[in-house]
Amino acid sequence: FSTAVLHEEPITPPVEVKYTKLLINGEFVDSASGKTFPTLDPRTEEVIAHVAEADAEDVNRAVFAARKAFDEGPWPRMTAYERARIILRFADLVEKHSDELAALETWDNGKPYEQAAKDELPLFVRLFHYYAGWADKIHGLTVPGDGPYHMQVLHEPIGVAGQIIPWNFPLIMFAWKVGPALACGNTIVLKTAEQTPLTALYVAKLFQEAGLPPGVLNVVSGFGPTAGAALASHMDVDKIAFTGSTATGKIVNGLAANSNLKPVTLELGGKSPFIVFEDADVDEAVELAHGALFFNQGQCCCAGSRTFVHEKVYDEFVEKAKARALRRTVGDPFNKDVEQGPQIDTEQFEKVLRYIRYGIESHAKLECGGDRIGSKGYFIQPTVFSDVKDDMVIAQEEIFGPVQSILKFRDHDDVIRRANNTRYGLAAGIFTKSLDTANTVTRALRAGTVWVNCFDVFDAAIPFGGYKMSGIGREKGVYSLHNYLEVKAVVTPLKNP
Ligand code: ADP
Repeated sequence: FSTAVLHEEPITPPVEVKYTKLLINGEFVDSASGKTFPTLDPRTEEVIAHVAEADAEDVNRAVFAARKAFDEGPWPRMTAYERARIILRFADLVEKHSDELAALETWDNGKPYEQAAKDELPLFVRLFHYYAGWADKIHGLTVPGDGPYHMQVLHEPIGVAGQIIPWNFPLIMFAWKVGPALACGNTIVLKTAEQTPLTALYVAKLFQEAGLPPGVLNVVSGFGPTAGAALASHMDVDKIAFTGSTATGKIVNGLAANSNLKPVTLELGGKSPFIVFEDADVDEAVELAHGALFFNQGQCCCAGSRTFVHEKVYDEFVEKAKARALRRTVGDPFNKDVEQGPQIDTEQFEKVLRYIRYGIESHAKLECGGDRIGSKGYFIQPTVFSDVKDDMVIAQEEIFGPVQSILKFRDHDDVIRRANNTRYGLAAGIFTKSLDTANTVTRALRAGTVWVNCFDVFDAAIPFGGYKMSGIGREKGVYSLHNYLEVKAVVTPLKNP
């Protein structure tokens, strides 16, 4: 087995690490314990920087600052237009610092720099423009009642929002969470993932420069069972939003329920089907299915990780999918010809290799890949399994790595049933020229997003989230505003109806 690998010395990232402390009440501070933890370069396994490590006491301080900023500060009291102006100024600053931010994101995460710079930073800016646009268009209702009453419904900010984000898209996840919460007038304590703390601190600093009052956005770096759990179970946090694994989502939901019953939104795992019908253009389908799985080193909650292919085009598809995976360029993500960088950390790296072993042991056919690349850094060969069966572990569990599983199907009813036969329901892709097939299958799939003849198209205005164990609630679009608003009914007698 071979794969296209670019051998080279690590490229020096064109950026410096400026911010490593906790951002609480508008200031960078050390953690109360004085503890720090290292964040590693996944290309080399070497330390990029030591970052202040928050635990419960720091979360307390951050929540206190956010509480005060909400209860007494200017943010929820200023006009929505003033809030929008600050968010827009922030987006402009991010645009100005895009190259540096993309480099920092690549360094901390291992994703291709081209992807960070050309896709993710522009999307980040777009998301904040989108939510700035909402700020002064969030309003309640006047409703007709049965009596002589003036009846209104006010939409108010929910208060202090706790937000816990993962490491696969550190900046984009920041935008999905922070954008709507701020547009609605809330204050925030955000906990980044321990693998990728750097870019959130940088953009949070830019937010202060843009005029965000102190305490409105507090950013803490730290680990899940300590800082994350403290945030999810805090009695003074009014809402928690979480993106990560389904297992951790259950814990967060439990902590929220067992503390103050704060409402929860969860964006969790997936095992999304990508279905190639018999009328598909095979070359196009191969390319799209390849991207659907391998994008971001396979580290996407919505990865098309079950590639169902109709038996009529199956052999041709497998052959071409294998050829495409063998052509995938893996190497230093700062090299602009590289499509795939390293996995995020040793834990994920080992997990992916374990799943590859399960695949081999369960007699799926290993078409290519299957091993690590080199001896340093978390690089894994683009791997393709064919002849995958529904009951194999690799067809059921989230691998979160560059491992494509191809399954054969015969008829439409069969593939709909099998595609839905999972606890997850995050996304699905279907590839067909038939409008009837597209319409029928789209409606039959139990998934929060269905991409037809495309995949991974993320727009600020369209909602994202999961059916079943893929989550609770939706982010992006108008839907994520509902997560950050309380609803107040106000009834006043009409004296002279
Ligand atoms: P992964 O396994 O991919 O790292 P997790 O779901 O564990 O995904 O992590 C996503 C986010 O949840 C990270 O910010 C992590 O620190 C946080 N987290 C992990 N465990 C907990 C926990 N027990 N309580 C709250 N947050 C947690």
